[in-house]
Amino acid sequence: MFEDSIIGEGEKGKLVIISGPSGSGKTSICNLLAKNPKIKQSVSYTTRKPRDGERDGIEYCFIEKSEFEKLVDENRFIEYAEYCGYLYGTSVSTIKEAIDNEEILILTIDVKGALQVIDKIPEAISIFINAPDDETLKLRLKNRLTDDDAVIDKRFIVAKEEMEYSKYYDYCVVNDRLDDAVKEIEGILNLS
Ligand code: 5GP
Repeated sequence: MFEDSIIGEGEKGKLVIISGPSGSGKTSICNLLAKNPKIKQSVSYTTRKPRDGERDGIEYCFIEKSEFEKLVDENRFIEYAEYCGYLYGTSVSTIKEAIDNEEILILTIDVKGALQVIDKIPEAISIFINAPDDETLKLRLKNRLTDDDAVIDKRFIVAKEEMEYSKYYDYCVVNDRLDDAVKEIEGILNLS
């Protein structure tokens, strides 16, 4: 249990962890869920550089590695993890603020970070998004990435490794049709 229990008894806020491999469609799902005004998406800190169109403080807070390490030393992250050579973390204050404001806060984080949050905040609702099958996942990776086949194969292997962690989540949602997956999650969150 997290010290000073972030989600106190009777609190109306909810913490929702969403993970899934690249190609699972988790970003599209979260963007659709976030159209509901009760839902807020957590803005993580990362040491990776912004991609085209990404804005500091909106998609991520982009910081240098030394700044990230300072925040780690100050215990400012509820979780953090390295993913493909870059650090990503969720700040404690983001979570506290959302719970105080009785919001539903979505953390779209990788499996290593998710396990840390599940361990610290058992009340969090954890959802793993999967593609319907390997062929669909590979096709989505191919359609989405401009990378060559070797990179796509590597992404596919990482995706398969991530899927091993789905057993630790409260729910596993198969994203075959986007609208159906969103509806299923809204049902889990009692929003439908
Ligand atoms: P991308 O760089 O493609 O935006 O994200 C790479 C991975 O990092 C994705 O799986 C994404 O969900 C994850 N991620 C984003 N923010 C966080 C975070 O705050 N903590 C952790 N552990 N993973 C994150």
